[in-house]
Amino acid sequence: MAQDIILFGLGAMGQRMARLAVARGYRICAAIDPDPAKAGQPLGRVAGLEDGTAGPLVSADAGAALAQTPRATVLHATGSFLRDVAAQIELCLGHGHDVISIAEEMTLPAAADPAIAARLDAIARQHGTRVMGTGVNPGFAMDVLALALTVPMERVDHLHLRRVNDLSDFGPTVLRGQGVGLSPEAFEDGLRTGRVVGHVGFAQSIALIARHLCWTVERIEETRAPIVSGVARETPHMQIAPGQVAGCLHSATAYRDGREVMRLEHPQQIRPEAEGQRTSDTLRIRGDQVIEMTTAPEIPGGAGTAAAAVNAVAHLSRAQPGLVHLTDLPLTVPQA
Ligand code: NAD
Repeated sequence: MAQDIILFGLGAMGQRMARLAVARGYRICAAIDPDPAKAGQPLGRVAGLEDGTAGPLVSADAGAALAQTPRATVLHATGSFLRDVAAQIELCLGHGHDVISIAEEMTLPAAADPAIAARLDAIARQHGTRVMGTGVNPGFAMDVLALALTVPMERVDHLHLRRVNDLSDFGPTVLRGQGVGLSPEAFEDGLRTGRVVGHVGFAQSIALIARHLCWTVERIEETRAPIVSGVARETPHMQIAPGQVAGCLHSATAYRDGREVMRLEHPQQIRPEAEGQRTSDTLRIRGDQVIEMTTAPEIPGGAGTAAAAVNAVAHLSRAQPGLVHLTDLPLTVPQA
């Protein structure tokens, strides 16, 4: 089993994964990040490990670090979009390493770009390596958990999934993509220019559910609306005044045989409690019976994603080489 770890990307998530992997007893063989504030520093200092001098020095040269390290599992956390991360992942696979990525589009890459997904699969098979994506959303809250709830059902007609979450822990990159701090007019402009994107991953969640239920989804409709704050809200990274945008209500509806079969709603904002909103995940599955579940507060996106990735290490090493999807594996529970 490849239980040696390489960290690829040491932002907020990579650092969390480093701390958890060390706590699990995995050996960190290499760490990669080109950020001048991190490269050349010991991993312990960058990731806030108990021993600030522990671990390898962070390398800015991914190719060299990957080539020098014997077969390991890469925990990859550099971006969201397949087009941005595919070359990094190919490099890892080509050097004989397995890859667990938290890039949202890696949860089901074919939903973003079938050609890139096929290439990743081919490279992995060629080198006897495995690659998968995981996370809380996509990867659990609005797909794997929903699928788990269908196990005792005879027939599924419709899934209504709603995740109300708090963006307050996230930094400027995530907040910009949600339009936080903009005026409602600038938000609309951001949607037109692509600067405001809302949630990344509806296509993957819908495709993962459809793939496992053997459904062909013919159409997905998405809407994005500003969540305009009625009060002042403040996080460590952002302050907004009443009338400014606190987040984005992003929804997606999927159709099969001309009929709505999935509705996913994801209002993401800073400090939802400022206007009396509690965070939560609600899943309502309708078919021969109705199964409804709410968990509040929300399933934590940051800590949960780090755990999902580190938990997957033990499971992925038992899978066949190639592109692996979460639904190909037994549930990737912690084996600690
Ligand atoms: P971040 O911006 O804090 O960190 C990204 C890090 O990657 C930075 O340190 C950056 O220097 C590094 N990086 C960028 N390009 C690199 C490259 N070519 N090689 C090596 N390192 C590189 O972001 P984060 O909060 O750590 O999140 C990472 C990604 O994970 C984001 O895209 C985020 O949207 C995604 N994410 C997914 C889920 C999920 O549920 N699937 C949950 C949380 C985060």
